[in-house]
Amino acid sequence: MTPFEYLLPYSLDEALSLLDPEDPGIRPVSGGTAIMLMMKAGVLTPTRLVSLHKIGDQHAAIQRNAAGELLIGGMARLADIERHPTVREKCPLLSQALRGVANPRVRAVATIGGNLSHADPHLDMPPVLSALSARVVITGPDGIRTVNAEDFCTGYYETVVKRDELVTQIIVPAQAGPGAYLKLTTRAAHDWPALGIALVLKVADGKVLSSNIFTGAATDRPTRLLQAQSVLEQQGLAETALRAAGEAAVAETTLMEDAHGSVAYKSQLLRIALPRAIDNALRHSRSHA
Ligand SMILES: Cc1cc2nc3c(=O)[nH]c(=O)nc-3n(C[C@H](O)[C@H](O)[C@H](O)COP(=O)(O)OP(=O)(O)OC[C@H]3O[C@@H](n4cnc5c(N)ncnc54)[C@H](O)[C@@H]3O)c2cc1C
Repeated sequence: MTPFEYLLPYSLDEALSLLDPEDPGIRPVSGGTAIMLMMKAGVLTPTRLVSLHKIGDQHAAIQRNAAGELLIGGMARLADIERHPTVREKCPLLSQALRGVANPRVRAVATIGGNLSHADPHLDMPPVLSALSARVVITGPDGIRTVNAEDFCTGYYETVVKRDELVTQIIVPAQAGPGAYLKLTTRAAHDWPALGIALVLKVADGKVLSSNIFTGAATDRPTRLLQAQSVLEQQGLAETALRAAGEAAVAETTLMEDAHGSVAYKSQLLRIALPRAIDNALRHSRSHA
């Protein structure tokens, strides 16, 4: 491994001052689970790593604000979010989806800020947080800005975060209705997905008032399935409507081939996964009513 400097700042301000908008060799490190693998593989050769481990416990806190939204610090570990009682109660989709990310060893050290910033298109969290209408708080030298989780990833391993900014908080509204994340893998259940479907529906009297449906892993960033949403909102939740939504999803999405499958294979996964994810969401919400 090429030698690099490892700095351990004791505050967020100090951490920010050690980043450099002009220097791609300077990178923040949180859990280190993704960055270390990239360094070992030789695809990333930073000159300086700025560790966020000591910037303060407040940046790993999980709380609720007066509006009932979850405020999750950027340094919160995936395992802590998954097990948090308020997350389980107010946002069961988030806990459920986190249980399927990687394995317990990775979840015990990986952070939500590092997870989102990694921006591998196969990550499970970006489509889930998008479906939950979450917002990402980004802090930089000019202060704080907030972007919708849906707009956070801009392409293959690309995000809106600049080199001298950090992800410091995720704001997640209480789950608005039945939700599900379906992760389809070609090997073990906890492996990287070939395709993911995350959704949250607002339903009343068998009608879909509104819906957030995203696919991940088979596209270069989480992608909203607008046509599938409008099929559900117009046709409801009958089996024929769910099948029509699956067909609409396939027709509207440009899927990517990768090591997990061809475009034809992923199209078939999408066609089948969307109705199944809706069914899972409705069954889960009935059994917890
Ligand atoms: C064996 C294994 C299996 C995995 N399987 C899955 C899986 O099934 N599904 C899945 O979704 N993920 C999976 N992952 C990926 C895992 O979720 C990520 O490695 C992890 O979430 C990254 O978080 P981290 O805190 O370790 O980030 P780090 O490795 O510390 O950083 C990742 C990137 O984000 C940047 N960064 C870190 N923190 C911040 C911040 N606060 N603000 C801005 N930039 C920041 C770093 O510079 C780096 O570019 C797997 C990983 C491993 C090692």
